[in-house]
Amino acid sequence: MISSIIFIIVLVVAIVFFAWNVRIIAKNIKLGKDLDINDNKSIRWKTMFLIAIGQGKMIKRPLAGILHIMVYVGFIIVNVEMLEILIDGVVGTHRALSFVGEDIYNAFASTFEIFALAVITACITFLFRRNIVRVKRFHNKEMTSWPRLDGNIILITEVLLMSAFLAMNAADSILMERGVLGEHIVGPFVISQALIPWFSGFSDGTLHFIEQFGWWFHIVGVFAFLNYIPYSKHFHVFLAFPNTWYSKLEAKAKMSNMPEVTKEVQIMLGTLEDDGSGMEDDMPSFGAKDIKDLSWKNIMDSYTCTECGRCTAVCPANITGKSLSPRGIVMAVRDRTAELGKGIAKSGKDFNDGKSLLGDYIKPEEIWACTTCNACVEECPVNINQVDIILSLRRFMVMEESAGPAPINNMLTNIENNGAPWQYSMADRGNWADDVYMNKK
Ligand code: SF4
Ligand code: SF4
Repeated sequence: MISSIIFIIVLVVAIVFFAWNVRIIAKNIKLGKDLDINDNKSIRWKTMFLIAIGQGKMIKRPLAGILHIMVYVGFIIVNVEMLEILIDGVVGTHRALSFVGEDIYNAFASTFEIFALAVITACITFLFRRNIVRVKRFHNKEMTSWPRLDGNIILITEVLLMSAFLAMNAADSILMERGVLGEHIVGPFVISQALIPWFSGFSDGTLHFIEQFGWWFHIVGVFAFLNYIPYSKHFHVFLAFPNTWYSKLEAKAKMSNMPEVTKEVQIMLGTLEDDGSGMEDDMPSFGAKDIKDLSWKNIMDSYTCTECGRCTAVCPANITGKSLSPRGIVMAVRDRTAELGKGIAKSGKDFNDGKSLLGDYIKPEEIWACTTCNACVEECPVNINQVDIILSLRRFMVMEESAGPAPINNMLTNIENNGAPWQYSMADRGNWADDVYMNKK
């Protein structure tokens, strides 16, 4: 009875706290500008199934891809076991689902254990790759101590949760075999039975402690992990699905028009009547300097980033030693959003800390190093559009501050004055034909 009450309290606290944190992230995403993405629903569903559920891009790097799929599928399947744990915890039963019969129950529990072992194997391999082999993309400059620790915390937690699950099953199987828990109910199961020789010398009391410790450690660990996720890059386990649904479906290199500019041009051409909006104090701003100038999709992208570094690993600017890292850009958006969101929650919507994404988090030299090749977008396993953020920041620099690099500013001035990117007057544009004409003569 007491343990059921404690369990229900822990369950309710975990759910409420998680919902609270998700609400904060949802609010932060809404700091971005409106963007209507609702077209081509069937293609969007297909993209989500292929990329998020089917892990379509992960497999491009076969070893990491297969290991990730082992963790992804394993974690989902093992957590079906949570259903029984929840029933046992709330009602106070022991293996509530064993009513399905010993054979069926053993088959399911053994399947869960095989996936638990797969998760442990994959996580240990990932830890080895990150910390011993030190794969380069996990050690770029934006991977400071916190992102590196975050990755290790996630992997170690998954190993511990799965190990607790196996230890619990092994101890429980022996207790059931000894008839301590009444008649023999179910088990042993295919993986945890390998632990039975190690545990079989233990007394009933010790085994009961291991079983209870494993049970509580597993369930409280899952609740704690659930509440850690919103503070971690692991939030991608939830956002990968909507983020891929809202993917850019057009050609990757297609730049979107800016509605403010389109409107100005339409008014100039006389295809749109000037309603006076966009003038004086209603003046539109161009591009993005800070989070509120980006779209909500840019911000959702940042919360979906898995920090895998696949984008940075293929970025020609980064490879050739420039300071640009597309992962760094996305992480900067998330960090600044969290900072701004916190400030707004505390001081109201007019909160101003004198900082901005451009300048304080991302330096101009980073965004101007981009070749807009879109290799990062192509590579991203959760369809993040890094280039869209970079272009928005560039647009701000050029259109609001005339602060683009000198060659670009010169080219724009030439286009404005001469109608061409070159530095000679319109009257001289046909001069090249004179030579051709003279030679013919
Ligand atoms: S588009 Fe820019 S950021 Fe992305 S890979 Fe190419 S150069 Fe790097
Ligand atoms: S933006 Fe995409 S590819 Fe780059 S680190 Fe994040 S998830 Fe990985």
